[in-house]
Amino acid sequence: MSARSVMRFADWTMRPETASEAPAMVHEFQCTTCCATSSPDEDFETVRDWAFHHTGRNPSHQGYRETVTRFWRMTLTN
Ligand SMILES: [Zn+2]
Repeated sequence: MSARSVMRFADWTMRPETASEAPAMVHEFQCTTCCATSSPDEDFETVRDWAFHHTGRNPSHQGYRETVTRFWRMTLTN
């Protein structure tokens, strides 16, 4: 009896998710000074507005980290 695992490989193709419930992108900002975060939102302007308001209330908080989430789908090739 062999201890070697048998693995099967197939050809896969990866494309951006097209399901209607998957947004094209989700944006989120985090303040690099205090780590406060915006709510994730599909609309970039919504999270950008959050950053302007955050700096407006905290003028020394001027750096932000953006996280962008994109959804992908694997399909069997052939
Ligand atoms: Zn902050």
